[in-house]
Amino acid sequence: MPDTQAADYDAIIVGAGFSGLYQLHALRDRLGLAVRVLEAGDGVGGTWYWNRYPGARCDSESYYYSYSFSAALEQEWEWSERYPEQPEIMRYLDHVAERFDLKRDIQFGTRVTHAAFDEAAARWQVTTEAGERLSAPFLITAVGCLSSTNVPDIPGLESFRGEWHHTGRWPHQGVDFRGKRVGLVGTGSTGIQATPVIARDALHLTVFQRTANYSIPARNGPMSAEARAEIKRNYAAIREKSRTGTNGHPWDISETSALEAGPEERMALYEDAWKVGGLRFRAAFKDLLTHRQANETASEFIRGKIRGIVHDPATAELLTPRDHGFATKRPPIDTEYFETFNRGNVSLVDVRAHPIEAITPDGLRTTAGEHRLDMIVFATGFDAMTGPLLAMDIRGRGGAALADAWAAGPRSYLGLQVAGFPNLFTITGPGSPSVLCNMPTAIEQHVDWITDCIRHLRDHRLARIEAREDAAERWVAQVNEAAHATLLPTAASSWYLGANVPGKPRVFMPYAGGFARYAAICRDVAANGYEGFMLGR
Ligand code: NAP
Repeated sequence: MPDTQAADYDAIIVGAGFSGLYQLHALRDRLGLAVRVLEAGDGVGGTWYWNRYPGARCDSESYYYSYSFSAALEQEWEWSERYPEQPEIMRYLDHVAERFDLKRDIQFGTRVTHAAFDEAAARWQVTTEAGERLSAPFLITAVGCLSSTNVPDIPGLESFRGEWHHTGRWPHQGVDFRGKRVGLVGTGSTGIQATPVIARDALHLTVFQRTANYSIPARNGPMSAEARAEIKRNYAAIREKSRTGTNGHPWDISETSALEAGPEERMALYEDAWKVGGLRFRAAFKDLLTHRQANETASEFIRGKIRGIVHDPATAELLTPRDHGFATKRPPIDTEYFETFNRGNVSLVDVRAHPIEAITPDGLRTTAGEHRLDMIVFATGFDAMTGPLLAMDIRGRGGAALADAWAAGPRSYLGLQVAGFPNLFTITGPGSPSVLCNMPTAIEQHVDWITDCIRHLRDHRLARIEAREDAAERWVAQVNEAAHATLLPTAASSWYLGANVPGKPRVFMPYAGGFARYAAICRDVAANGYEGFMLGR
């Protein structure tokens, strides 16, 4: 490591996606701090910078998958579609970065490899891949929940003669599928978005499915000028609804139980929700995520839709999820996913019944035989929530490693801080609603809380804040309790539980008690003098 003097700042932020950009703006322009953002990519965007795969589009609707902190920004930006496509989100974030003059404090192409808390100086010492050293009293991770890619460890991958890509590290120049036999592994939100788009271009697409998934039609379309104007007139109320709801979305969850409704009424409500499409389907009844039988009515409705859409009965059956309930894993939404299996150039392979054994020079071999491929796309997801944090080798008091502190699964207080790691804040960290929420809503709440907390420390001439071990202990129990009050932990292969990464501890990571309830807890903690934290000089 070069023996150079560390560059000093008031705060270092890791990541320039939705959270890092807003955190920079809040600390620099509201508190007047000297802030440095370190970003591995060559541009802003975070998860959207890396996820450029075909069909990449947000599942939250554009008008609320956006910042609310600036009314002027809300009024001037024009979303073109109901769900924004990856390039449109990139244009939006680039616009935000330019508009608030953020880029001058962002260092691109810079990956953080090490961060250690120097107790004597009460400062974080941060080291980058290039050996650069920076220091600041506060370190804020804005690394996203889904940014550490999970490429399965399949023997023989290095021998493959064709191209292969993970969707979360998609080449900037794009990929040409024309005339190619493409294999796609994975049928989560990503695989379900990519399948119809790849199928349009490829000579042949083989989808390798381990777990069949529910999916709701997105019903994407252009946003009319009238719809845009109406939204802009109502933005304050829309944002208020997002902040006071369960998932940070601006709509109500029905008050009706799926079990109290008669069969005809229930069917009619599901049909209506199917027509509207999108993640709102989950809100059709109040108990879809809390009551098994209620959930089964939604699951069975979607199974019926799959049977109705997919012509070949064997393919339809294979596409039909039976091992988990609807939305117990993060529910995908799609544009003609199931319809794509009616195309002549698409086939579905069951790698649950016949697991993948190896990648060969010419394709992929399952226990049932070899599939010859020119290209493989891994839509195999992420080492979610903890992956990007643990990749940085973070060391707290006494040199203790975050990896050791979290050996049995993540432990945090409010998903904001970890005991033993003073002045480290984790935006949308494990233990917060984060991925169960519309992300910008969750991000803004965390950034505002962290900013207010740092302002409080400065106003009171305090130098440090650290979560107490007993508070973290109680919070972990609350996170567990909230999860077990729902059906969410029942899906065996969910990444919410870390179950998709071999060897990862199975702990339900996000806080499932609802966004509004969580935000109120955070507010109360601050109002009660940062209860559960130790503050010091
Ligand atoms: P994912 O939900 O974790 O899905 C990964 C898929 O790969 C699963 O079908 C999984 O099967 C399969 N898989 C993993 N390893 C495998 C192996 N060794 N062999 C065979 N199959 C394997 O990942 P994702 O689809 O990338 O989505 C992750 C999350 O990102 C989403 O849930 C969502 O929160 C977010 N996302 C959002 C959007 C959006 O807003 N538009 C789009 C994409 C993603 P199993 O189920 O059997 O493990």
